[in-house]
Amino acid sequence: MERTPFIAGNWKMFKTVAEARHLVSELVPGLQAVQGVQKVLCPPFTTLLAVKALLEGTDIGLGAQNLHWEASGAFTGEISPTMVVELCQYVIIGHSERRQYFGETDETVNRKLHAALQHGLVPIVCVGESLAENETGQTGEVVSRQVHEGLKGIVLEESSTPSTPDGHGVSLVVAYEPVWAIGTGRAATSEGANKVVAGMIRPALAELFGEKIAQTIRVLYGGSVKASNATEFFNQPDIDGALVGGASLKAEEFIPIVKAAAIV
Ligand code: PEP
Repeated sequence: MERTPFIAGNWKMFKTVAEARHLVSELVPGLQAVQGVQKVLCPPFTTLLAVKALLEGTDIGLGAQNLHWEASGAFTGEISPTMVVELCQYVIIGHSERRQYFGETDETVNRKLHAALQHGLVPIVCVGESLAENETGQTGEVVSRQVHEGLKGIVLEESSTPSTPDGHGVSLVVAYEPVWAIGTGRAATSEGANKVVAGMIRPALAELFGEKIAQTIRVLYGGSVKASNATEFFNQPDIDGALVGGASLKAEEFIPIVKAAAIV
């Protein structure tokens, strides 16, 4: 099954509105020139409106980095799916930084995921083991639990933005992000990451949704991806793109990463 490559840039808590405008103006010409790759920028909430205006008329999607599961209510400081969907098509859910610093659990990930899908957003769901879990041989158990618990009760439908070139696929993207590789400069090996995706994540998706649907779901790798190592990951058969953090903040790094996804 051929899956359309997908590259998302997670800007984390970087860029003011003026800085975001500047970065987008550098990114758009280079990203627009790349065909056959789904490209998404996920800047901070405060810059979404400005970035949306600059992406108008391009084929570059916009994503939020988080959302609350309720549509509205007394939840000071939170942003609802109805608000996110006014501006974005995508949303990152369950990023390890949110699990680590903001108490997100498989249960909250599951609630957010249901809410995102209900409101027509395409979720990019993050899973991945910590260093201690990796070193004690628990990777398979952890990512499988995160997929099973995080995606519990989800019913997937064919998407209006299909994930395969022949028009099949669903509105869900999964990112395998080993926590020890995020922002550390210490990426997983491409073979190791592919082994986790092919041997643990995709089988867990098949248990939930059946083999046919599991084969249409894009599974990304994330963790210290940069221009110089991107191709290795994209050459792996079960890795369908990348969730890029630090390197998505520099046009001279992010554009070559997206180009690398188009070539393989
Ligand atoms: C991320 O933020 O999802 C990420 C993978 O970060 P980095 O590329 O900086 O490791």
